[in-house]
Amino acid sequence: MAQDISVKKLEEKYSKPVVTKSEKEWKEILSPTQFAVTREKGTEAPFTGKYYDFYEKGKYYCICCGAYLFDSSSKFRSGCGWPSFNDVNSLKSINIIKDPSHGMIRTEITCSQCDAHLGHVFDDGPPPTGLRYCINSVSITFVADKEE
Ligand SMILES: [Zn+2]
Repeated sequence: MAQDISVKKLEEKYSKPVVTKSEKEWKEILSPTQFAVTREKGTEAPFTGKYYDFYEKGKYYCICCGAYLFDSSSKFRSGCGWPSFNDVNSLKSINIIKDPSHGMIRTEITCSQCDAHLGHVFDDGPPPTGLRYCINSVSITFVADKEE
């Protein structure tokens, strides 16, 4: 994977979602919190999510469309209260959007397949990337790796 990339060097990119549903259809398959975070760009309260302090081996998928987003090997203890990863499965699986809505430019991450809001990416992660993908637990679902 890429080494020493900073958020500044992450280029904005956006793919038109291939999985699209109406608001009503999303509400039928998502819980109210999942809907508020993924479809309305909300943020779950820190230290409340299912995965902020969870370190089993496996893969994390988009709660909305099932796209493979993160592997547990890139998950680390950030202490920030949200699940944190220093890498994504593939840059192809995410959109990168510079978000100036909070007075400072934050870099938003969404699922490239369905445009679900996942969280933001920051520059204070551990090597090799130095990035911290700060992700809402409700935006993702975990599937454990099978025992070999
Ligand atoms: Zn998705």
